[in-house]
Amino acid sequence: GAETTKNVLILMSDTGGGHRASAEAIRDAFRMEYGDQYKIFIKDVWKEYTGWPLNDMERSYKFMLKHVRLWNVAFHSTSPRWIHSMYLAAIAAYYAKEVEAGLMEYKPDIIISVHPLMQHIPLLVLQWQGLLKKVIFATVITDLNTCHRTWFNPRVNRCYCPSQEVAKRAILDGLEESQTRVFGLPIRPSFARAIVSKDQLREELEMDPNLPAVLLMGGGEGMGPVKETAMALAESLLDEKTKKPIGQLVIICGRNKSLASTLQSLEWKNIPVKIRGFETQMEKWMGSCDCIITKAGPGTIAEALIRGLPIILNDYIPGQEKGNVPYVVNNGAGVFTRSPNETARIVMEWFTTKSYEMKRMSENALVLAQPEAVFNIVKDIHVLAQQSQPIVTFPYKLTSSFTTRIN
Ligand code: UDP
Repeated sequence: GAETTKNVLILMSDTGGGHRASAEAIRDAFRMEYGDQYKIFIKDVWKEYTGWPLNDMERSYKFMLKHVRLWNVAFHSTSPRWIHSMYLAAIAAYYAKEVEAGLMEYKPDIIISVHPLMQHIPLLVLQWQGLLKKVIFATVITDLNTCHRTWFNPRVNRCYCPSQEVAKRAILDGLEESQTRVFGLPIRPSFARAIVSKDQLREELEMDPNLPAVLLMGGGEGMGPVKETAMALAESLLDEKTKKPIGQLVIICGRNKSLASTLQSLEWKNIPVKIRGFETQMEKWMGSCDCIITKAGPGTIAEALIRGLPIILNDYIPGQEKGNVPYVVNNGAGVFTRSPNETARIVMEWFTTKSYEMKRMSENALVLAQPEAVFNIVKDIHVLAQQSQPIVTFPYKLTSSFTTRIN
């Protein structure tokens, strides 16, 4: 019933790197497993500020000046090791206000952060509010391999790591082993539980039933050398002698509308090509293809692994996605190349003379896949929530705002 419903606040930021996808996956898994026992709020604390990946120093500086009082506190706070630059401090100051507003509005019993910069300030705000012991705080890391230290804070109840490598870093950075869990990256439940056959999917999606298929994409925003790669594939996947296609191509442009319309305006005669915008059923498109070309987004990679798709990584967002490349390549689940021609050649070989290589990579991908990760995460949080004391009178005080508190 409603009186036992617990509020879950998920802190995310729609800045790429799979944060939104992970947040939504966690929400959906909570709904599937526990119905109305939990009420989930996803708060994008970065919405109004679009400076990511934060390379616009002038704007950051102006922004910092505007929030200078908050910034001062962040910078001189008791645990300054996470303040790696003034710049991070500026960011922190910005979202501190958002987090406090979120606390007031949603009165969470559980806070889940899926963002590298959303541990320290939220935990500080909780401390100031006297809520550190009453609210469960969990971090869900969305980098697969190497990750930034700002993900780690020893005060969290749990830190969910997608791989052993990340868990090792967490422990090196002061977390106890009992605080960490390695379940994998949370992927939407529809992915984990998809069981329709490739043949059926191809029929449903009106694809060629026989030709091997390559999926070309670039994260939610359709980033990377998608157009160049598509054009190179249209050449390489045409058999020179017979003039027949040796493969088909599916291009998913995500929210990149101009990419989709540019591609649609070109003529595709050599091979069957499907050009799509933002798709809501990625599990179907991945399930109908044989390999994938993408930038190194953690969400797309984890999904491709679940579907056993060998991966050609052709780009990454500097910093946050870089470590995902060796995760795929060193585990034998794919290759990295920035060259569209090289990519097109590899796919052609996988579809003809080197099918054994594609098969081996597909097997390696399935070994890495962790389709149950999202369910294991919400089940673990549920256990934590059962253990914690029920809050009878909700103790949030609306009187002390962040700014008055720091003066
Ligand atoms: N995605 C989607 N529809 C699209 C394109 C992408 O649902 O048309 C999903 C994709 O399946 C993945 C997420 O968007 O779950 C992209 O996350 P990723 O970490 O790969 O990169 P980001 O876009 O966050 O940088």
